[in-house]
Amino acid sequence: DAYLGAIDAANGALNAYVTVTPDKARAMAETSDGRLAKGEAGALEGIPLGIKDLFATEGVHTQACSHVLDKFEPRYESTVTANLWADGAVMLGKLNMDEFAMGSSNESSYYGPVVSPWRAEGSNADLVPGGSSGGSAAAVAARLCAGATATDTGGSIRQPAAFTGTVGIKPTYGRCSRWGIVAFASSLDQAGPIARDVRDAAILLKSMASTDPKDTTSVDLPVPDYEAAVGRSVKGMRIGIPKEYRVEGMPAEIEALWHQGIEWLRDAGAEIVDVSLPHTKYALPAYYIVAPAEASSNLARYDGVRYGLRVPGRDLIEMYENTRAAGFGREVKRRIMIGTYVLSAGYYDAYYLRAQKVRTLIKRDFETVFAEGVDALLTPATPSPAFGIADQEMNADPVKMYLNDVFTVTVNMAGLPGLAVPAGLSASGLPLGLQIIGRPFDEESLFATASVIE
Ligand code: GLN
Repeated sequence: DAYLGAIDAANGALNAYVTVTPDKARAMAETSDGRLAKGEAGALEGIPLGIKDLFATEGVHTQACSHVLDKFEPRYESTVTANLWADGAVMLGKLNMDEFAMGSSNESSYYGPVVSPWRAEGSNADLVPGGSSGGSAAAVAARLCAGATATDTGGSIRQPAAFTGTVGIKPTYGRCSRWGIVAFASSLDQAGPIARDVRDAAILLKSMASTDPKDTTSVDLPVPDYEAAVGRSVKGMRIGIPKEYRVEGMPAEIEALWHQGIEWLRDAGAEIVDVSLPHTKYALPAYYIVAPAEASSNLARYDGVRYGLRVPGRDLIEMYENTRAAGFGREVKRRIMIGTYVLSAGYYDAYYLRAQKVRTLIKRDFETVFAEGVDALLTPATPSPAFGIADQEMNADPVKMYLNDVFTVTVNMAGLPGLAVPAGLSASGLPLGLQIIGRPFDEESLFATASVIE
């Protein structure tokens, strides 16, 4: 009731929730009461969570914040949310996001932008919470849920976490099942939590992660007790500092934050080593070929027949065209056009195939560094603090918006785990985050390292 009250009071201003499910929340909380009374409490018994609108929730409106999925109510539950409910968590509702998770500011949502609960010092201007999991980050930061699910294809957990002073982890590709999560770019998409602190993130990830026969890319590995790694000593760990992340034009305050993080880890007994990931500069352009290519294929299913919106036409083809023209927003159309272009017969070799080769080189860069005995890497999470809603530069030039992902996309391209942890404030008083990148399936080292920084 306290959380539902807080949502009632603040959601009008923040627009973090697109659907609130009070009846469901109360019914689930009652079940939790019963299980608590019987001494049968699960790990998340009674904990109220917000769910990104990308996760299919049975009988509850799921739209990926796109007009094309108008009124869609899945008859099934995503594996990740089913895992959370099995552990006793309670659903408060569905969270706003960029349409089909495409964006870095939550401004491409059909339901309008999310407003960050943060303000720069001396200003009352509305700021973005980051994207695409902007609703998740804003809801956690504003205490409109105890934790939230999110997804990350190129940074959509870590960038909004960094912008809102929350903790977000994108686990290793395959750690969480993608079953029942609306697909954006299937070889990059991963679910993970956004939480108030490192411990909460560890507890939530343990519940979300599983092996799932319904997703053949989910891995058959036991899920460790991530919480046990929180506060674990980093003494003797080797932390790599990749020189290629010192990008041109990086603000001095981001550089200073990075230095501060290095010092904290050194003081805690970690060994700091300079490393090189030479193909880093190709990651962003390669990502913006691979991700739209996969998206253009995944989004072919929204044809006006199977789900959601249908805009009639004189014949079947015209119905498809009318539905897709009306149903998709600008950014989604841009991605579909880029994707179909790079996959077309004449350009496949020059763009898509080449980007896949670059992806392999990026992955090998990390493998080399880890083979040299580096346990984890420390980098900034984003090249700047949160920017304003309707920022003219970002909106006039999509490439400027894409630059937000410069530190995060490499991790998705290589399938590695990455965690964003709040590390300080900008000169304007806004949260700044650092990113820790780890070996495949070594999320524990990320939790240990992050707990030194937070
Ligand atoms: N900002 C990136 C994009 O627009 C990443 C989005 C994501 O991780 N879902 O593709």
